[in-house]
Amino acid sequence: MSQALDIARRNPNAPAVEAGAIADGAIEKVAERPLAPGALAGQPSLVGLTRAELAERLGAIGVPEREQRMRVQQLWHWIYFRGANAFSEMTNVGKGLRAALAEAYTLARPEVVSEQVSKDGTRKWLIRMPSTGPLDRGAEIECVYIPETDRGTLCVSSQVGCTLTCSFCHTGTQKLVRNLTSAEIVAQLVVARDRLGDWPHASPAEGAFVPSDGGRFVTNIVFMGMGEPLYNTDNVVAAIGVMSDNEGLGLSRRRITVSTSGVVPQIERLGQEANSMLAISLHAVRDELRNELVPLNKKYPIAQLIEACRTYPGVSNARRITFEYVMLDGVNDSDADARALVRLLEGVPAKINLIPFNPWPGTKYSCSSWERIERFSEIVFRAGYASPVRTPRGRDILAACGQLKSETEKLRARARMMAESGIGAEGVYAAAAADD
Ligand code: SAH
Ligand code: SF4
Repeated sequence: MSQALDIARRNPNAPAVEAGAIADGAIEKVAERPLAPGALAGQPSLVGLTRAELAERLGAIGVPEREQRMRVQQLWHWIYFRGANAFSEMTNVGKGLRAALAEAYTLARPEVVSEQVSKDGTRKWLIRMPSTGPLDRGAEIECVYIPETDRGTLCVSSQVGCTLTCSFCHTGTQKLVRNLTSAEIVAQLVVARDRLGDWPHASPAEGAFVPSDGGRFVTNIVFMGMGEPLYNTDNVVAAIGVMSDNEGLGLSRRRITVSTSGVVPQIERLGQEANSMLAISLHAVRDELRNELVPLNKKYPIAQLIEACRTYPGVSNARRITFEYVMLDGVNDSDADARALVRLLEGVPAKINLIPFNPWPGTKYSCSSWERIERFSEIVFRAGYASPVRTPRGRDILAACGQLKSETEKLRARARMMAESGIGAEGVYAAAAADD
């Protein structure tokens, strides 16, 4: 418990929190909803914006066009390299402009409604985006941080809920509220860096579960939270542009992985414009079964999907495509399925990620036995593919990518589950990073 609190105390950016245990060894902290200066007056935040958007905001307060490029450069450095929280920190920006900026804008982050820290160091934040109008209390999304020795992976959301209805996915049962803007996607990384003390000037989160190789705490991004990223491609591409900018947040595009259920017409564009790594939620090797598990398959069947992977811009043995395969007991986990999977992927630079299914209340599926998963993995491995089984992470805090739901519905589901079965919400894990 003290480890997580240490982070909050040591990190000057972290809002005040209260701690309270939610499960044995896990921690839940609820923010006291601190408001950034200016937030009361409803000024918009500059955090998360692209260079073009920043230039536009500068223009709106009268900064002449010829000056905008230089000013954007300054803001960029302060916001994305140093993690500045206030315009007053921007010592190389003239006092007049600092005051004008503070009058019109803030550097507020979206609100961290709660932070949960698992015994294994996995962290889950419930983040509330600013309200977009009087009737909107602000979209809520979840974002998960998974630390390992040599990397720290942030699992980000691209939509609130999901319009697709994969039969094994919890998020799919929540109807889409809306797409996240690119700024809201980027803000998830900014919030994570705040909470972990992962800025150059911040005290590192000593004693906490963060990579121990001396590098940054967030090194990898996976778009495996709520939503289908390729139904929000414009904003995902723009967000990746901001996250990977060398003068700011500085994540390598090779360490950013976009996971899609198979929106074929958007795949090439993602490669061309974002140059990110690609993960495909395959889960079945026959159209008949995939139609049931991932209904989008009826629109874009397996053959089309694999062809799009074969021709994904930049794909090579050094930049392989990850195929995610959720292990469903008696559904897709036979030896014959494993062999068919290997045949299907022949000639595609691929790695296969076997995911133990995370049960959720009301699901008709259960997870394959460990022996079955090992046997499946062995067949795939013998055929020459690395086939890591995703380690369950964050079980005690329900930190499962692909299972994330906004708070209202989740609470209802949890209450229902407990009432119906009397069991705790175990068996939930977080997605690990795609391999570098
Ligand atoms: N919509 C995108 C990205 C978010 S889902 C996609 O479908 O790829 C992230 C991953 O979690 C996907 O591979 C998804 O199939 C998987 N997933 C969803 N529900 C799951 C569950 N209950 N158990 C295990 N994996 C699940
Ligand atoms: Fe949406 Fe992905 Fe879940 Fe399918 S698996 S419902 S695409 S979030």
